[in-house]
Amino acid sequence: MERYSGKAKDIELLDEKEVKIHFRDSISAFDGEKTEELLNKGEVNCRTSAKLFEILNEYNIETHYLKSISSRDLLCEKVDIIPVEIVCRNIAAGSFCRRYGIEIGTNFDQPLVEFFLKEDELHDPLITEEAAILMNYLSGEDATIIKAVTLAVNHILRNIFKSISLVLVDFKLEFGRSHEGKLIIADEISADTMRLWEINTGEIKDKDRYRKDLGDVIQHYKDILERLETITELPNIEFNTKTNIRISLKDSVLDPAGEVTFRSLKRNEYENIESVRLGKNASIKFSSVPSESLYKKTQEISNRILSNPLIEETKLSMEYFETSNEG
Ligand code: UDP
Repeated sequence: MERYSGKAKDIELLDEKEVKIHFRDSISAFDGEKTEELLNKGEVNCRTSAKLFEILNEYNIETHYLKSISSRDLLCEKVDIIPVEIVCRNIAAGSFCRRYGIEIGTNFDQPLVEFFLKEDELHDPLITEEAAILMNYLSGEDATIIKAVTLAVNHILRNIFKSISLVLVDFKLEFGRSHEGKLIIADEISADTMRLWEINTGEIKDKDRYRKDLGDVIQHYKDILERLETITELPNIEFNTKTNIRISLKDSVLDPAGEVTFRSLKRNEYENIESVRLGKNASIKFSSVPSESLYKKTQEISNRILSNPLIEETKLSMEYFETSNEG
């Protein structure tokens, strides 16, 4: 049986489609420099992850989670992990404050999505989207989908935590490709991978308790889980996903309107202009969460209805935005 042991979890390959993820009691911080065993941590994180994945799946966010098979084991789809960690921030904390000198607790006007290269030896450095694409860690298409999905997850989780009096400061997601080639969320989502503060007091409830030696780590993790388990009805969330399609004539095709514009610019003595090509834009708003399938659906709409693939080429991007004030 093929097995892989990480810092806090063991992965057992069951077949080419599924894995069993076992949550141990280990906790670590600072690139594994500080480690400890905390009684019941595995169970609490396993149950928290299961609950959060179930919630995300309810909202049609595609994840690797299939079911809980014991208090410490999850059955999940096997994925090839994309070696880029995605961090989403609502409030400044942690490495963001160290990097930019901004005060902990500064609220952002809108959530920020950052990419980090998953490479222990380099201490998981921040990486630009362009560099990650250039080095083939992911494609441009993956990047636009991943950012939109992460923002939708943030919208959902912020609402969920707000309903149990917690503030979602930031969190980390990992994405992978399933055996069917589907882009889905993988790994775990727990107090180890997010920052949560008590709404009224700002008390720290997450792994920062361990990083900063604040004590009672598992008591706080358990409290988060217990509050999550009181949720019976999920809040109604208005999802807004937008796909943008830029349509332009292929370079080899004559563009008479562009040509007319070009000549007019020359007549008006604009200099150093070599050519002008005109195109069009379409944006489609969906009232659903972003996903790779929605991206593919837009591609199909674009090729079948919006453009003529014989003479035109298209460029797609995906965005997620919040319009309402739920959270
Ligand atoms: N995070 C994580 N795994 C990592 C790095 C970060 O789960 O390898 C989480 C971390 O718990 C926090 C968020 O991602 O919720 C942002 O972490 P940050 O970049 O601030 O780094 P840190 O302060 O944890 O070094």
